Amino acid sequence: MSVTDTSVLPAAASNTASGSQPLKLFDTHCHLDLPELASEQQMHWQSAQQAGVTALLIPAVQQAAWQNLLSLQQHHSYWHIALGIHPWWAAKHSLDAVAALDKLVTEHSSAIVAVGEIGLDFALDEATFAIQQQLFTAQLALAKQHGKPVVLHHRKSQVQLLAELKRQQFSAGGILHAFSGSQQQGMAFVDLGFKLGIGGTITYERAEKTRSTVRKLPLECFVLETDAPAMPLAGYQGEVNTPAQLARVFDAFCQLRPEPSRQIAAQLWQNSLNVLRFGTA
Ligand SMILES: [Zn+2]
Repeated sequence: MSVTDTSVLPAAASNTASGSQPLKLFDTHCHLDLPELASEQQMHWQSAQQAGVTALLIPAVQQAAWQNLLSLQQHHSYWHIALGIHPWWAAKHSLDAVAALDKLVTEHSSAIVAVGEIGLDFALDEATFAIQQQLFTAQLALAKQHGKPVVLHHRKSQVQLLAELKRQQFSAGGILHAFSGSQQQGMAFVDLGFKLGIGGTITYERAEKTRSTVRKLPLECFVLETDAPAMPLAGYQGEVNTPAQLARVFDAFCQLRPEPSRQIAAQLWQNSLNVLRFGTA
């Protein structure tokens, strides 16, 4: 399938979540293939559309998920996919998996919009650090070689991620998923061509540093995401998160910004298209 503007732009966006304000939202990080959501995938997609969510990016977490994601992408015009190995699953893989990924990205280049979810998680057991580093380094090199953006997972690892991005002179950009942190931390990634993925974190009053970053950086720096089924919003703790909740993330985002919500939605949508290179392939 060719990747163009029209492939992610439904003719009309419906909206029930924000009164009369027309929404067209892009959930740039949603694990609709994971068991918590997969059994009622169509229902979740319908609810998401009713809430104004008109496109999704589903990043893979492990090699075993790749073929299913390729199949989902073929059957759903507005579901986009990234393939990669998430650091939580790193210990199950070897560098052979990256060779397999290289083959798939070569064969299905227009279907696979990004390499992800990749990254480093230093809150995990130290025994996994070596394989995490190997897989991240190799997957970043693969993305660079194919000119694909990356979807980055981070936990206690922003410094190391930045160092590797700079070492490889990685210039295809991507999304720093589940951003939390200061303006300075955010700008370090924005300066390397990344968007900051903003999710349910900002619905928590205590996330003051991240909320402050959302207030202060230019709108061009951000995209929205749910990380469903993970990261429930404030008031929904203990529940399975869903892509329809993106409308609430958007409302919380708008409350932190001075611009009209219509302008915010349009800019966030454009940011999503830009970072995933729709219309430029
Ligand atoms: Zn994720």
